[in-house]
Amino acid sequence: MERSLLIKPKMDDEYPTAVRGEGVYIYDAAGHKYLDGSSGAVTALLGHAVPEIIDAMYNQSKSISFTYRSQFTTDAAEQLAQKLNELVGSDTDYWSFFVDSGSEATETAMKIAIQHWQEQGNYRKNKVLSRWNSYHGITLGALSMSGHLERRKRFAPLLDELPSISPPDAGLAGAEELDQAIRRKGADNVAAFIAEPIVGAAGGVLIPPAGYYERIREICDHHQVLFIADEVMTGIGRTGRMFGMDHWGAEPDIITLGKGMGAGYTPIAAALVSARVMEPILKGTQSVMSGHTYSANPQSAATAVAVLAYIEKHGLVERSAMSGLYLLDKFKALGAYCPLIGEVRGKGLMIGIDLTADSAVNRPFPKEMGVTAAFVKKARDNGLLVYPAAGASGGDGDTVIVAPPLTINQEEMDELVRLFKKTAAELQQEYSINAVT
Ligand code: PMP
Repeated sequence: MERSLLIKPKMDDEYPTAVRGEGVYIYDAAGHKYLDGSSGAVTALLGHAVPEIIDAMYNQSKSISFTYRSQFTTDAAEQLAQKLNELVGSDTDYWSFFVDSGSEATETAMKIAIQHWQEQGNYRKNKVLSRWNSYHGITLGALSMSGHLERRKRFAPLLDELPSISPPDAGLAGAEELDQAIRRKGADNVAAFIAEPIVGAAGGVLIPPAGYYERIREICDHHQVLFIADEVMTGIGRTGRMFGMDHWGAEPDIITLGKGMGAGYTPIAAALVSARVMEPILKGTQSVMSGHTYSANPQSAATAVAVLAYIEKHGLVERSAMSGLYLLDKFKALGAYCPLIGEVRGKGLMIGIDLTADSAVNRPFPKEMGVTAAFVKKARDNGLLVYPAAGASGGDGDTVIVAPPLTINQEEMDELVRLFKKTAAELQQEYSINAVT
């Protein structure tokens, strides 16, 4: 097909035209095959063209694809809300507010947190605190909460102030910074704290230490601040547990989901809100002031129900944990051999790999070299898709994320590692870095 320039996301790169997907592979119009080592943007949780999901989509569309949420509810939306509540598995019920993207989910969480306090007469309690090296979405409210300078800078005048808390790799001291930040602002002004359980794109898989979120929970409770876990990337089995927060012993007040929830088959996302947070809202003056035309549409809801059923049926959460350990070992072994491969971190199938000029001393490349982008492009030329992430230390450094579909098998994982190694070896040669012998 003739190429249009009208939808090109970047001026300086040529994107192949995707024509077909099957399992962990994507094929382009020129006949090239790509191993989807990042599930796109950590999204295609089940791989591509899974027949059960396609059947569920077709069946739903045969009965009804769209109803408007203030005119009808549907079995699909009700089932999905019930299933998500069951998966959270708390003593408290979690309500579902369905939206169409992760950004909308975090903005909805923000608005519900503010409304929760307003309905109790606290009109000043409307700031949402967050951390550096974080990403909560591209719309203005979501961007206001994001500690991502590159994405903020063009819109700085429209955004709330910058985050003030260190990323979670700062350790337990980082959690104490939340206490200080709330005291500085005054607890009367703070509605909520939002954090990705494990930081994705803006940090390159940053994992807090044991006890971190338990301490965050204590601090939030002490100051009467809600805790929002942004699970848009970590949710639905990605990290080897159903939710990223399941690795810690702390329950969030609001959980946001996106990406893996529709697994790339449909745009759907959600804010799951605890009954405790809902209580004053239900008694209050107004319904929740967030909702979009497509919220809870039956076509997307039925697709997400099918995705969750598929995950359960095939034990994909457990599989994510096992495959993650396998890949982590392989990448660590590769790191011992390739100077380009620095620290390797991960939980389940969410693995961050730092790219360093000298891994022995963890020396980063100068930013101007654009090593992450060069790696992503070379990997793609070699038939492997990986996801670029800002470096682990304040936007410096280079990191890529490996996050294949949870369905990946051992042979495909070995191929992924082989293509990664080939890419690393070629870049090392280009940068004149000698392999460890
Ligand atoms: N939160 C997190 C943690 C994310 O990783 C992302 C997307 N990368 C978002 C929010 C925004 O989601 P979306 O791109 O679907 O708006």
